Amino acid sequence: MRPFALFAFAVLCVASLAGCHERWNQLGTGALGRYPTPADTFFVVRDADTWSFLWKWTTGESPAPNVNFSNGFTGDVVAAALLGPRNTSGYAAAFTNVTWQMESATAHVQETTPAPTDIVLQMITRPWTFARLTRPSGSVPGADGPLYFVKDGGAPILAEEATFEGLINQHFANVSTPQDTSVPSNHVPALESGVCPLHGDALVSAALNVNLSGQDVSNTAYYCAQSGRYWVRHVQGAFVGTITAWYGPFEPGS
Ligand SMILES: [Zn+2]
Repeated sequence: MRPFALFAFAVLCVASLAGCHERWNQLGTGALGRYPTPADTFFVVRDADTWSFLWKWTTGESPAPNVNFSNGFTGDVVAAALLGPRNTSGYAAAFTNVTWQMESATAHVQETTPAPTDIVLQMITRPWTFARLTRPSGSVPGADGPLYFVKDGGAPILAEEATFEGLINQHFANVSTPQDTSVPSNHVPALESGVCPLHGDALVSAALNVNLSGQDVSNTAYYCAQSGRYWVRHVQGAFVGTITAWYGPFEPGS
């Protein structure tokens, strides 16, 4: 960083009411994450749909805690530290600090491990923690910049950009025989209108990159943020033209 940039950042910090190291809140922490991380995974989340889905998949709960993702320059982002499988209970993760640079932010995560004298259960655990990050006002150049994670004082790791399309595709790819589900026929009119048949709220759609029949025309997921469930509209080529079927609901983290 150039000396001028350092100076400008220092001025912004003084001008900010809350201070540069206080603009974040832990949104939750737990040891039994349900998102199937093969190894420590660090995400940045920048929109409500992605946040809803990742929270639901990790915790099994919905709706997600409120985050103001209003826009790219002043809105919040979520930092997610989803640790890979640990072989016993007694592990935990928590954010300890967030620092802001001119063009990026750094979220510091600490893992706690069981002491040798602790009695632990032999079980697979996945410690997780989320934080809401609110950018200091006036930090224009860094408004929507990259997020780095520093875990246990190690080297900075660039966060992966989590997306709703990416997560829902990842989830659906691991649903076995989705065609075996049955959607009540009285739910279909609401679904065809893009409305949740359970809550009446608008569904969020995403194209799925799968081919269930060998001659699929399209598969589209429709997600309800209120319940954390989604349905799939399947269109398949046939002699008579196309056949449309609905599958679901599917529930990440259940
Ligand atoms: Zn719903």
